[in-house]
Amino acid sequence: MNLARLCSVVLDVLFGERHFCPACGRFGSAQAFCGECTARIPKVSSPACRVCGTPLRRRALAGSDAQEAQDAREARHVCTGCRLTRRYFECARAPAIYEGAAREHVHDLKYRARVEIVPALSRTMALCAIRHAMADWCDCVVAVPMHPDKLARRGFNQAELLARAVASLLGAPLIPGALSRREYTGTQTFLDRQNRRGNVLNAFVCDEPAAVAEARILLVDDVLTSGATADGCARALLRSGASGVNVLTFAVSVADMRDWNPM
Ligand SMILES: [Zn+2]
Ligand SMILES: [Zn+2]
Repeated sequence: MNLARLCSVVLDVLFGERHFCPACGRFGSAQAFCGECTARIPKVSSPACRVCGTPLRRRALAGSDAQEAQDAREARHVCTGCRLTRRYFECARAPAIYEGAAREHVHDLKYRARVEIVPALSRTMALCAIRHAMADWCDCVVAVPMHPDKLARRGFNQAELLARAVASLLGAPLIPGALSRREYTGTQTFLDRQNRRGNVLNAFVCDEPAAVAEARILLVDDVLTSGATADGCARALLRSGASGVNVLTFAVSVADMRDWNPM
């Protein structure tokens, strides 16, 4: 434990409040990243896909036709992944790109159990939800579930921690246990992308159909990669009568979406 974190713990005991940035330990608020840590998070900039929220990048392409096609796609602001894939969620948004400091924060939470970072992550997410009109839109918040085996190993579901904090910040109810994951889909290295997507789409079950019926749902996870997990959850919720699903994550993986691009 470094000196700043030790001071933080002592202050916790004395005053019941934390006074240090949860990422770097500098003096500040425990509920938000300090200015320097905020600046280090790679942000999603426009243009971004209007469906999945992935920033669209102009790629170096050979030939003017390809360039024109690229320009036309960017003009419509839909990424290749969302054009080629049926989406069950209406739109997904994230404040950060899953690189650099943003990736570190997610790893701190998932693999190092630094749950003290949850308030700062969820605050960034809640601001993103407000900016994209998801806060007023949603009736309730649901977390992407974790398979029970994985939950037993990790001890917590980071998506649920984030969902609970986001729900509290937005003043929307969280529906705990709305979804469960019935198949373990963690290691699928040897399956091709379509098979992986099919597996993930079928992996989720809605256990609270009465609570989600006719509700507009904000689905929360830590990272959006291919969007297959979000689609699987959204499909289960829609089949149980939800009227719509938007997705809020802390970060969106750009590399994975690039991988979808056939060009
Ligand atoms: Zn900091
Ligand atoms: Zn997209």
